[in-house]
Amino acid sequence: MVQDDPITMEEDGDLVEYPLLAVRDAVVFPHMMIPLFVGRDRSLRAVDKALDGDHCLIIVTQKEPDLRDPAPEDLYEIGTLASIARMLRMPDGTTSILVEGLERVRILEYTQTRSYYRVQAALITDEVEEQPLTEALMRAALALFEKCVQLSNSLPDDAFVSAMNAEDPGWLADVIASHLNLDIEERQEILETLDPVLRLQKLSVLLAKELDVLELEDQIQCQVQEEVDKSQRESVLREQMRGIQQELGEMDPTTAEKNEVRDRIAASNMPDEVREKADKELARLDLMPPMSPETGVIRTYLDWLLDLPWVEETKDSTDVSAVARLLDQEHYGLPRAKERIVEYIAVRQLAGEKMRSPILCFVGPPGTGKTSLGKSIATAMGRNFVRVSLGGVRDEAEIRGHRRTYIGALPGRIIQTMRRAKTVNPVFMLDEIDKLGLDFRGDPSAALLEVLDPEQNHAFSDHYLDVDYDLSKVMFITTANILDPVPPALQDRMEVIEFPGYVEEEKVEIAKRFLIPRQTEEHGLTQLKFSEQALRKIIREYSYEAGVRNLERAIATICRKVARAMAEGRRTPRLITPRSLFKYLGPAEYTYGVIEDADEVGLATGIAWTAAGGDTMAVEVTLMDGKGNLILTGQLGEVMQESAQAALSYTRSHAADLGIVKKQFDRLDIHIHVPEGAIPKDGPSAGVTIATALVSALSKRPVHREVGLTGEITLRGRVLGIGGLKEKVLAAHRAGLKTVVLPKKNEKDLHEIPRKIRRDLNFIFVDRMDEVLPVALTTPRSVRRKRPSSGATS
Ligand code: ADP
Repeated sequence: MVQDDPITMEEDGDLVEYPLLAVRDAVVFPHMMIPLFVGRDRSLRAVDKALDGDHCLIIVTQKEPDLRDPAPEDLYEIGTLASIARMLRMPDGTTSILVEGLERVRILEYTQTRSYYRVQAALITDEVEEQPLTEALMRAALALFEKCVQLSNSLPDDAFVSAMNAEDPGWLADVIASHLNLDIEERQEILETLDPVLRLQKLSVLLAKELDVLELEDQIQCQVQEEVDKSQRESVLREQMRGIQQELGEMDPTTAEKNEVRDRIAASNMPDEVREKADKELARLDLMPPMSPETGVIRTYLDWLLDLPWVEETKDSTDVSAVARLLDQEHYGLPRAKERIVEYIAVRQLAGEKMRSPILCFVGPPGTGKTSLGKSIATAMGRNFVRVSLGGVRDEAEIRGHRRTYIGALPGRIIQTMRRAKTVNPVFMLDEIDKLGLDFRGDPSAALLEVLDPEQNHAFSDHYLDVDYDLSKVMFITTANILDPVPPALQDRMEVIEFPGYVEEEKVEIAKRFLIPRQTEEHGLTQLKFSEQALRKIIREYSYEAGVRNLERAIATICRKVARAMAEGRRTPRLITPRSLFKYLGPAEYTYGVIEDADEVGLATGIAWTAAGGDTMAVEVTLMDGKGNLILTGQLGEVMQESAQAALSYTRSHAADLGIVKKQFDRLDIHIHVPEGAIPKDGPSAGVTIATALVSALSKRPVHREVGLTGEITLRGRVLGIGGLKEKVLAAHRAGLKTVVLPKKNEKDLHEIPRKIRRDLNFIFVDRMDEVLPVALTTPRSVRRKRPSSGATS
């Protein structure tokens, strides 16, 4: 290699001696013209000396560009002999020279170091033999360089011209290296590569690298340019369109829409924070091309902000007695609910806004007037009424909305309902909170807590809305059929008002005063009357319910059919009697009276509390040959299954007293079934009924068919209190039972039962199971004969 063996090159190199100029950040190549700034004293003196002579000097690059006064060892050994073509002295004292590189040199000796450097150096001349390889190499390098010049913005076209004129590979390498964007080390390495072919090879590698970078740059540049062109084109076209529309006197529809929204925002009385948000969205809308899908999303959002009531409110009526009167006018009965509502309104007026209103919760079976009383409250107070059902809501997002980033996102049910309310202080009914679900998508009751909590609901956050909404002026009323499934945290926040269901007398009154007038008027049949017997028959045999929904439906059906007959010109009755019911309503759906036809062994009648009020519930026990297994069927819940176990244990442990042979238990399987099998049942209060049916089956004593039973049982045979007394007693009465056995604990609640019902029924209050059996079971003939004095206590 030539570099490893420099002596061969220098042996025939001529020796020269010239002043030396050290440069910091440039490498001067032969054949290269380059301007240099000369500032350092030593350098200025060297230039002066050169100009004194034949204008030549030797230029070398210093190894560390930062050194102010480099010593000989800080300079590279290979440099360039150059000639000063021109010198300019600048006004600021610096000097600029234009030099032309002539020949490579190797510095051999510093002949002077004081004041300026002067060196003796050997000229290194490129010598090449003509070879096909060098020719090919030159062509390839030239082609690469041509591409570089084409792609690069900084390489002038004449750089390529001068490269084209280079006659040998070393020269070509020097020309290209002098133009290429290389760093100092790379340049110096090229300069020090004395073998011209090797030099061109090294340079070709650098050239290829540079070309890669340039190509990539070019690609990026093209992409950017394309984008810019596209958007420029679009904006020009749009501008033109606008111009045309203006000429035609038409307004750009999107601008018109935006202006309308802007005006609406300006005219609305939304709070500052919301207005800020709206303005921000509007500004985004302005920046967006009209066809972008995002504009639709923003428009919808702005519509929501504009449509929601932010400050509009109705003025509450202050006349408490007028409120009371109106509630009475629109609803029969419900004294407790009405009283509580009037109190609530009165207190609110005294305490004003300061009072944190408790949330009312109306609990009762369907059709007992919860919703319609809510509406009446709104009317009486002069507020708007809105209602939303929470039945089946499982997802928190249904209450709180989806974030706007979701496609098709909307606010939750609360905010949607507030939009319908149009004021910030409506009566807001949340129906069916006992049917709230809970699953992996979050707990909607947690969101509901925030809605109902007076501490938090002045800043309710809906995910879609993204600004707080004040719910503190809303009067919330919730409704539920039963309280048990309502999460305890929610129960705590609410004041429960019970709607226990109506007795027959109340239903007759409601029908006479409200349902019949309303239905006949709606059907244009003001002359149509219902006889009281007909009404009672509808209540007893066509509707079996705690409320009056089916009753109202039956009345509506009759009205509809009469109206139709009238329209068809047929004869129509003026009075609906029991006899006309079959014609209009078909055969009776329920039989009113004793449920069982005869006293039976192993069949006891319980009375239970259901979502529809109260109901009777038969419990059947059968015995089969077996090994003492207990079989339970009829979809019994856990609590009811445990009651059945307890009842069995009681029966076993008291077998002797109950006249049952103990050995039987090991030889029999006991099957307890509670029809109707498809309806899930639960609760502890069937204990007494199950025990009675068991004892009856085991002792073969039939159960009195007109006795209804309820009560929880302990292993020792004590009878514990139950809930829902009124509903249960009403159900017993409706079913035509004569005697009702109740826990002694519940005796105090008896006053809740209307007097007429109390008169019709025989109540037996018991503390222990032993007291139940004599009432519920028929007395065995043998016992009756032997001990006539100790019969049933009824
Ligand atoms: P709920 O909301 O409890 O299911 P609704 O309020 O829908 O019951 O009542 C059903 C129908 O019965 C309504 O038409 C209602 O006006 C009527 N109603 C219920 N209770 C009464 C009552 N005490 N006085 C007058 N109408 C009543």
